[in-house]
Amino acid sequence: MNIPFIDLKKQFSLIEKQVRANMDAVLEHGAYVMGPEITELEKRLADYCGVKHALGCSSGTDALILALMALDVKPGDAVFTTPFTFFATAEAIALLGATPVFVDIDPVTFNIDPEKLDEAIKTMKGEGSHVLPKVEGLTPKGIISVDIFGLPADFDAINAVAEKHGLFLVEDAAQGFGGVYKDKKAGALGKIGCTSFFPAKPLGCYGDGGMCFTDSDELLERLRSHRVHGQGPDKYDNIALGINGRIDSLQAAILLAKFDIFPKEAELRDEVAGRYNELMGDIEGLTVPTTPEGYRSVWAQYCPLATDSAHRTRIQDALKEAGVPSPIYYPIPMHLQTAFKDLGYKTGDMPISENAAERIFALPMYPYIEKATQEMIAGVIKKA
Ligand SMILES: *Cc1c(COP(=O)(O)O)cnc(C)c1O
Repeated sequence: MNIPFIDLKKQFSLIEKQVRANMDAVLEHGAYVMGPEITELEKRLADYCGVKHALGCSSGTDALILALMALDVKPGDAVFTTPFTFFATAEAIALLGATPVFVDIDPVTFNIDPEKLDEAIKTMKGEGSHVLPKVEGLTPKGIISVDIFGLPADFDAINAVAEKHGLFLVEDAAQGFGGVYKDKKAGALGKIGCTSFFPAKPLGCYGDGGMCFTDSDELLERLRSHRVHGQGPDKYDNIALGINGRIDSLQAAILLAKFDIFPKEAELRDEVAGRYNELMGDIEGLTVPTTPEGYRSVWAQYCPLATDSAHRTRIQDALKEAGVPSPIYYPIPMHLQTAFKDLGYKTGDMPISENAAERIFALPMYPYIEKATQEMIAGVIKKA
């Protein structure tokens, strides 16, 4: 028997009628790109997050690029971020000609460590000992923190560091949308929040899509302009450079149907994770994920740690034998990526991320996974 890593079929059976009705409406009105569904989705998601504005766009990657464009990131700027993330976070920084500067993570939450962040910024200003990229003449400009695996980072602490040094904070909530930090929602935790609607994310469409969130009227206008090639008030007089960052009406129509059940699904995901933790919390040598007090993860991934890489291989072999996928997010931290070799980082620079990369693995996670399946998976891991 093969267990899916993410099963979207059950979800589809619950919302099929609404999905089809919403898609039919698009086929009838014919505004295939940037139609009325986008505005409705923006309004509903902004309300859910508790922010003033939301702006739909073509992907999570493009949401990050738009955010950095709106914040005027350019060559010579340093943007501090975590090495323990999906490539797109750091890629967006480098695509704008700026330099990603990596700061190691907290070993429990896997999110950027606010103390090390402060140290790295101080070092760039000339008084600290954090490892920095081998690039001359950088100016600290901003921070991108990531809600890794669906758990928001420690935003009070990170915002305090950002304010102290006069840097912007962008929240990469591609995995975090639906998560909670104290009394706030993921997406609402930085100057601009960015999320992704890739099908495998907690709120996914049936293609690509993304969204930016902000409370700032001015940033909204900048995001809106960059989304469509830097357009100005006169459509054929462009005031800046931008991208083709539009989103399709069909994707928004699908998201509207999915969003109806999303708050409930976020709760179910949390229950599924709680059950995994219960089933596996006492397995020797295995570390199950911890959610700090006042946080809620939306569990984009459920990722335990094995004792070491040999233990992980044993677990993964046993799971494979049982038909259970257990992919690794992420096997190579950003500072060791080939594309960033010119930054001059080396193994040992980010020991906590490197250690996690050797021990981590993910288990099947979706709101409708059966209890018996989870018990079977836990049993296989226990034996390994
Ligand atoms: C998925 C993801 C992205 C990119 O989103 P896309 O919609 O695939 O472009 C960016 N950052 C993180 C942390 C992600 O998980």
